Amino acid sequence: MNILFAVSECAPFVKSGGLADVTGALPKELNKQGFDTRVVLPLYGQIAEEFKSKMWFKQAISVKIGWREAHCGIFDMIYEGVHYYFIDNEHYFNRGGLYGYDDDGERFSFFSRAVLDIIPHIDFVPNVIHSHDWHTGMVGYLLKEQFNVNPLYQNMKSMFTIHNIQFQGVFPRSVMHDLLMFDDDHFRPDRLEFFGGTINFMKAGLIAADKITTVSETYKYEMQNQFFGYQLDGLLAGLEYKTAGIVNGIDASVYHPLVDEHIAENFDAKTVAKKAVNKKALQAEFGLPERSDVPIVAMITRLSEQKGLSLVKHVFHEMLERDVQFILLGSGEEEFESFFSHMEHSYPEQVRAYIGFNEAVAHRIYAGADLFLMPSLFEPCGLSQLISMAYGTLPLVRETGGLKDTVRPFNEFDHTGTGFTFTNYNAHEMLGVYQWALDFYGTDAWSRLVERAMNCDFSWEQSAKIYKIIYEEIINY
Ligand code: ADP
Repeated sequence: MNILFAVSECAPFVKSGGLADVTGALPKELNKQGFDTRVVLPLYGQIAEEFKSKMWFKQAISVKIGWREAHCGIFDMIYEGVHYYFIDNEHYFNRGGLYGYDDDGERFSFFSRAVLDIIPHIDFVPNVIHSHDWHTGMVGYLLKEQFNVNPLYQNMKSMFTIHNIQFQGVFPRSVMHDLLMFDDDHFRPDRLEFFGGTINFMKAGLIAADKITTVSETYKYEMQNQFFGYQLDGLLAGLEYKTAGIVNGIDASVYHPLVDEHIAENFDAKTVAKKAVNKKALQAEFGLPERSDVPIVAMITRLSEQKGLSLVKHVFHEMLERDVQFILLGSGEEEFESFFSHMEHSYPEQVRAYIGFNEAVAHRIYAGADLFLMPSLFEPCGLSQLISMAYGTLPLVRETGGLKDTVRPFNEFDHTGTGFTFTNYNAHEMLGVYQWALDFYGTDAWSRLVERAMNCDFSWEQSAKIYKIIYEEIINY
């Protein structure tokens, strides 16, 4: 079974969030289970030299972008059992960031066509092309509407996974004509047309897909609702018959406190007392008082409204009335960056805000903190709460999407649960649970919670088995 992942980011090469964790880990697990899963992604300028030096140049082809022919270099690399293809075009991908450019429509039109154009040149014919999020939404649509006249492509199936519906790739209609070479017949409500005379790349992926998946069962239903669906809710309700919710896992070779190379002292559920060494090291690294009796509350996150930061901001002073230390690692919206930087100055003994993206620091926070705050407004799956549980750092989450599906609420009477949860998007509801949670810090109930959280199985093994069944289903359909 041959699967080709078409992705815009992939760990460990290039990462802006959980999408990269998933596209980095799932192919490895599928291959372990007997598939040949390969991955194609852009050769960004951000990819470290240590990886670039291991790639080899296969060949260059040209890819049509409207009337133009654009250069497309194909670089190969085999890494940890997975074959990767990197698409090189300096003009499109050698920039300061990954996304957010005026010509993103052009960049990902190019990339989507390149994914299909390289297939005759790589000695690999996929049974399924699996696209992820809007950047590669157009791959499945191009496959069905342009490439399938060529016998090589006729039996290929397409699958599309929604990791976050908030970002859809909405562009002017001219992108459809000038760059993707579709005529007006494709500008219809049941095709590429979106509201206000635009076209929508994610919609293209959804309607063309033989199967749609999203990253948790709860999010599958939530996104059919107006609040969560960002104007695709109606379409998704109509496409429910071909949609499945499969929860993400985490890569145990990257996120396990027993093998983690970034942390001060390795530990597991049986040797969890050693977590204290990591806590002390974390306090020293951040210049906080080195006290073992004070709980460390942590957040590692994109600083965006999605992540519930308005709730935190609203009751931050009340949160700090408790004897706690608070560490934030994140970057994003200016409003939150400046708020947390300001709080660091207001509470020099209690608060640290690291504004930026730093993988190694993230690992050390997961290992050293006690409580992980993730009060998201919506959360398709969420990986941070899974990672924090694996490191014995108890999550405090809002019951939405994957957070609801993966964190079992603590019950103080029958001693069950793996974290703390609250229901409504309300700052004081969060604060109430936060205070209740801290009351248990240092007690036997807390230790048992930590043990239960660390013993959860968040590996990819089970979820990869479900993906396998779905691939087989659509191929044999
Ligand atoms: P999302 O993909 O919506 O950003 P997830 O919880 O699914 O959220 O995944 C976030 C991933 O990105 C986790 O691996 C988390 O540790 C990592 N991450 C988020 N912000 C940072 C940061 N500032 N520095 C390092 N890692 C980060």
